[in-house]
Amino acid sequence: MALIVQKFGGSSVADRDRIFNVARIVANTHAAGNDVVVVVSAQGDTTDDLIAKAGEITHDPSQREMDMLLATGEQISISLLAMALGETGCPAISLTGWQAGFHTDRAYTRARIKNLDTERIESELSKNRVVVVAGFQGLNRYDDITTLGRGGSDTSAVAIAAALHADLCQIYTDVDGVYTADPRLVPRARKLDEITFDEMLELASLGAQVLNNRSVELAKKYSVNLEVRSSLTDLPGTIVKEVTDVEGMLIKGVAKDKDVAVISILEVPDVPGASFKVFSLMAQKKINVDIILQSSGKEGHKDVIFTVPLGDAETALALLEENRQRFGCRDIVVDKDVAKVSIVGAGMQSHSGVASRMFEALFEANINIRMISTSEIKISVLIAKADADRAVNAIHDAFLN
Ligand code: ADP
Ligand code: ASP
Ligand code: MG
Repeated sequence: MALIVQKFGGSSVADRDRIFNVARIVANTHAAGNDVVVVVSAQGDTTDDLIAKAGEITHDPSQREMDMLLATGEQISISLLAMALGETGCPAISLTGWQAGFHTDRAYTRARIKNLDTERIESELSKNRVVVVAGFQGLNRYDDITTLGRGGSDTSAVAIAAALHADLCQIYTDVDGVYTADPRLVPRARKLDEITFDEMLELASLGAQVLNNRSVELAKKYSVNLEVRSSLTDLPGTIVKEVTDVEGMLIKGVAKDKDVAVISILEVPDVPGASFKVFSLMAQKKINVDIILQSSGKEGHKDVIFTVPLGDAETALALLEENRQRFGCRDIVVDKDVAKVSIVGAGMQSHSGVASRMFEALFEANINIRMISTSEIKISVLIAKADADRAVNAIHDAFLN
């Protein structure tokens, strides 16, 4: 007998038939003699619909009230799935995030899990019940509802698997594993049998939404056995683990992130402290700065150019404008029509020529590179948003076909 955590995303519980399909998978796992904890997301596009509803009321909703609203989506799914399991003859109980023991920090809409008190889950498991937990939600120290950021149910599932020392954590979704690129965008993308935590973490952070990046971080930290698979087919999925068998694959995947903006601060005086002044402002507001490019000084001036998440672009701009006299620049410009396209693979550490092959593919597709950033196992380029899909396909063909 094993303890298995199974997470089902929004499309897997989108309607009545899908819920009964999930109930069948869960009931079979339970009937085989396993303890099962299930984590579910909100049905279909529910979370997007709730965000749109808030937008009908105000353009600037309180983040606390947003979390109060968004957490309702998952509550619908847990109750319906527990009912469907009952109909299937499988004993089950639903728990909200707080009933399941999720305590988070105070950061509404992007909270981090601080600790997970598993007493209630364990007590229900000991009664031979399947425990159906609402993903994406917790409670902060003011007893207010918080949510973990978009895609956060993956993190809820991995956190439960880690805390209970589960034998396996299965992330069921609408594709049958992790592919070399988003299969909806790249028809020739291939499913990977295995991928390392580090590679998956990069892919997830660089835009492959199939797993939430925090969930991968947690899985690596607590050595959780993680599998991504489809709720709609019975095919084996992708195993995410510390070390994979060497298959001679130079790169494992291509990812695209359209959630990015470039801020250019033009003609700052070329004196010590210019970058410090800019980036300390960003740090104060907890704005994540990604690629940074600083031109070398020319005629006493330099340009400081960097990327931020698209959702933070306006806040960053306002902050910079407010403090403009502190760095005395000529102009501050924001460009939101950009995308970041990246390749990821541990294999590039020991091979030369990977970057030039990527840039050649872009050159052949006549796509201009605006910024470049590299780390040991990834290379990212910033390009025009309109070119992003073409770029992903061109790069994928160059490495993976
Ligand atoms: P869920 O609702 O189950 O959490 P998501 O929509 O969050 O599902 O994630 C699954 C989607 O991730 C897939 O439908 C696919 O379009 C997208 N995706 C992006 N990159 C990849 C990739 N490299 N491999 C597989 N799927 C990917
Ligand atoms: N329902 C939430 C979202 O759409 C959480 C999740 O799906 O993981 O982001
Ligand atoms: Mg998801």
